Amino acid sequence: MDLHQKTMIGIDLGGTSIKFGLISSEGKILRKSKLKTPLSKDFQEIVELITKEVHRILLEEKLPKNEISGIGIGIPGVTNAKGEVVFANNLFWKNKPLQSSLEQRLGIRVKVGNDASLAGFGEFHFGAMRNTQNALLLTLGTGLGAGVIINGKVFHGSHYLGTEIGHMIIGENFYNCNCGNNGCLETFASATALVKYVAHLMEAGESSILKQEEGNQQKNITSQQIFDAARNHDKVAIKALDRFIRYLAMGIANLINIFDPEVIALGGGLSESGDLFLEDLRIIAKTHTYVKEENPTEIVIAELKNDAGILGSGMFVLED
Ligand SMILES: [Zn+2]
Repeated sequence: MDLHQKTMIGIDLGGTSIKFGLISSEGKILRKSKLKTPLSKDFQEIVELITKEVHRILLEEKLPKNEISGIGIGIPGVTNAKGEVVFANNLFWKNKPLQSSLEQRLGIRVKVGNDASLAGFGEFHFGAMRNTQNALLLTLGTGLGAGVIINGKVFHGSHYLGTEIGHMIIGENFYNCNCGNNGCLETFASATALVKYVAHLMEAGESSILKQEEGNQQKNITSQQIFDAARNHDKVAIKALDRFIRYLAMGIANLINIFDPEVIALGGGLSESGDLFLEDLRIIAKTHTYVKEENPTEIVIAELKNDAGILGSGMFVLED
């Protein structure tokens, strides 16, 4: 075994599941497990759950604590340098001392970060952003998250507030973002945005194969159905997809102008339908950048899928 190789536990804590990975510093996933996030989202309950699962992993793998370099945890919310969760809306958490609570119970070093930032760190080490120094991951799901890597490090901003790219104001929209603002990028370029826009068009009387028999049950429409309908040349779905591409392209062009990254990688559930929009997105983004067609930033689909979070969280332990 390589003496320089290190072993970490990476945890991706989400609103519906908690994923655990025992990972090596070479990017191998030695073991994976997944627990359901308790419906209560109770902080103490989740701390106990994580403590138990980490003990189980160490016991079953016959790993003494001192052979683990540490535990990294990605949280869907804002964290700070002390490893506290400042707030996480999906978990209903505010000012929770996650790092110290787990360190006390486990006797292992713990680092806490934003989930999208750490997924970006995973792609940076082992996925679509490897061999870069400056790169961004945009996770296109229910919302739009981002992981920013600058000079080979996770960028947190001065107060850990700097990577809320989903809340970049990019235009006026017909509905408000759940952050309270109007015009956030994620209200144009996310699964929620697609679903809301399709419902909006249908309410205005546009006909679509997505229209339900029993009135406008737009709640039942998913982004996947919209993509499928777009493949079937449904006008409403294509209109929604075009709008999604147009605004995402503007957002990406802004990011290229600000950061001049080597790569912008697109992850999250919507990226799995990248064949529907990646080419157009590249073309439109580069019509908006300051340096145009020949702009060298590559726009690609992320590679690690659901493993980005545990890999990046694990590697975060090794970052100074
Ligand atoms: Zn917002």
